[in-house]
Amino acid sequence: MKTDAKFLIKLAIFIVMLLIITIDAFVIQYMKKKLDNITIISWQDSTMIKVSPKAIKEPTVLVSQEFIDKFNDYKSPFNDGMNFNELIEKYIHNRWADHYGCGRGTAEKKRIHEGIDLFVTENTPVYPLADYGIITEVSDNPHFLVEVDYKTKDSSVHQMKIEYGKTVRILYPEGIESIYTHLNEVFVVAGQEVNGNTVVALTGLTGNIKNSGKASHLHLELRDSNNKSFDPRDRLRFNQGSLKFFLEHLNMGE
Ligand SMILES: [Zn+2]
Repeated sequence: MKTDAKFLIKLAIFIVMLLIITIDAFVIQYMKKKLDNITIISWQDSTMIKVSPKAIKEPTVLVSQEFIDKFNDYKSPFNDGMNFNELIEKYIHNRWADHYGCGRGTAEKKRIHEGIDLFVTENTPVYPLADYGIITEVSDNPHFLVEVDYKTKDSSVHQMKIEYGKTVRILYPEGIESIYTHLNEVFVVAGQEVNGNTVVALTGLTGNIKNSGKASHLHLELRDSNNKSFDPRDRLRFNQGSLKFFLEHLNMGE
């Protein structure tokens, strides 16, 4: 009787293990079939190549065309449906000094205006430039400093800090960041995920704006994944570097 019970227990364990192995085999087959539905078209050494997902050895992120299309266009920071050309026309009033790239600084320390100055009413709410963003930097300090490049007379490039005032920096899926400065109030914290309808701050009068005697405005700056500013009217397409920069900040979940 006792040996019979032992045998039955052993048999039951054996059956359960057999069942687990069989289920696993089916799951593996199912996953393999799923992988067959994916084709990766890539580019290597000036040639188009097809890569089977089964041949991939490193962690790989696939980005859909819908995602790329979605984040290749920017919204207005005021959530009013305008594009950048329209914003510049409406809020800059064609003053050269408020455009991107115009001269700043002195003959010894030549720098450029790293963004555009949009003259809107003080305390105008500002929103992210896309429907998804990650807050990468926030400062509630009215004297907050941001690093910019300058050139000396011999054309060598150095870095200096400029008083931007209260600042919000947002990273978008395209791997670029927007910097909003001279803000009166900020409503977000670093690391926060935001969407196109999140009010991140109010425009204002903080930072070096007072020395320049300028009216309240939003200084809007775009920077690429190498932290270099570029003209907001220029488009920066998704590329490996920019996407990698975005993914470093994205919480992928486990
Ligand atoms: Zn400015």
